Amino acid sequence: MSDVELVLRSANVVTPDGPRAASVSVADGRIVAVGPYDAPDPDGARVEDLGDDVLLPGLVDTHVHVNDPGRTAWEGFGPATRAAAAGGVTTLVDMPLNSVPPTTTVPALEVKRAVARRSAHVDIGFWGGAVPGNAPELRPLHDAGVLGFKAFLLPSGVDEFPPLAPDQLRTALREIAGFGGLLIVHAEDPHLIDGAPPPTGPRYADFLASRPRAAENEAIAGLIALARELDARVHVLHLSSADALPLIAGARREGVRITAETCPHFLTLTAEEVPDGATEFKCCPPIREAANQDALWAGLAAGEIDCVVSDHSPCTADLKVGDFGRAWGGISSLQLGLPAVWTAARRRGHTLHDVARWMSTGPAALVGLDRKGAIEAGRDADFAVLAPDETFTVDPAALHHRNQVTAYAGRTLYGVVRSTWLRGRKIADHGTPTEPTGRLLERPSRP
Ligand SMILES: [Zn+2]
Repeated sequence: MSDVELVLRSANVVTPDGPRAASVSVADGRIVAVGPYDAPDPDGARVEDLGDDVLLPGLVDTHVHVNDPGRTAWEGFGPATRAAAAGGVTTLVDMPLNSVPPTTTVPALEVKRAVARRSAHVDIGFWGGAVPGNAPELRPLHDAGVLGFKAFLLPSGVDEFPPLAPDQLRTALREIAGFGGLLIVHAEDPHLIDGAPPPTGPRYADFLASRPRAAENEAIAGLIALARELDARVHVLHLSSADALPLIAGARREGVRITAETCPHFLTLTAEEVPDGATEFKCCPPIREAANQDALWAGLAAGEIDCVVSDHSPCTADLKVGDFGRAWGGISSLQLGLPAVWTAARRRGHTLHDVARWMSTGPAALVGLDRKGAIEAGRDADFAVLAPDETFTVDPAALHHRNQVTAYAGRTLYGVVRSTWLRGRKIADHGTPTEPTGRLLERPSRP
């Protein structure tokens, strides 16, 4: 065993078994021991006592649109990974669309990796895309290390990443199941969306009516049927409609391999509070009513939702204005997910152990990154140090992502991220990112 280089002590280390006072020893970027708080200092090790600050596993955000290359005016690997580091996120997984080219072929993946490698402040994995006609590309992308494949059932918002028709979805999922891969789906039914009143104008209620819960429920029911038929593994992205939770839970009880995520905005913001004209709150599926939000929290508490991830999807400020029909749909919260979720979670009686499960352990497990997602021996020494009882008011100017429009502006949140650590090195200190030491991650091969 190599020499211990670093020891972090805290009265509150969030381990898989729950929080406890402990000292965490690190060698070669990995956790080598989680010992008693007052264990003797190893010779030559740097020791930091965090006092009452909480040591959490670094967050794993599996839903980030970095948009780089191609739409770098919207976001980029430099600013996105700086925002991640400042917010306690140590691993992000980039979505295959909004960049140009989209990640639908191996050469496109290599283009993206070449860009990402230059300025990665956190570790980065990649999703591939399943689009019409690229079924032969899926296995090569899988072999090249993507963590799974994203598909849309209705227009994605960008022309170069079209949706799959039902027969194309079946073809893609059969192919993916053939090599044991994972399909992640934007699940809204196109026909029910087409049949709903179109979104126009500044009223949030009109926008909400244009994206009914039934569209999510229907799409998820169809996905469950297909996953069952093909014995495939599927994942529901950004679940907003809590009505679908019994469907998902029932399918799992029967052995269907389906998981689901929700997002900080669905757990912390409500339709009732969105001012008319406030298009910074626009996302698809939409932020719904408070009663729906309560049911999403119940789904999290019951283990029916596996992950909470940001769906950070920025654009330039000029595309985010106007009416709800025209504005770009996406909420930027990469740097704010942890305090936003913690603020609501603590009010509802949840603990940071729960938050770590939803925002670190669960997402790491979703994508099979078994060196991430927990504070235990053998995992990477990735940490977020949080002052859970301190508050701050969200100032968009303090955010590191490229376009600082945010639905959280002016909100007071609990939980200040003091520092973030990646493989035993401090990558952010009091909100300021340090050096870019992130690496590109590939899907771990399974025996
Ligand atoms: Zn997304």
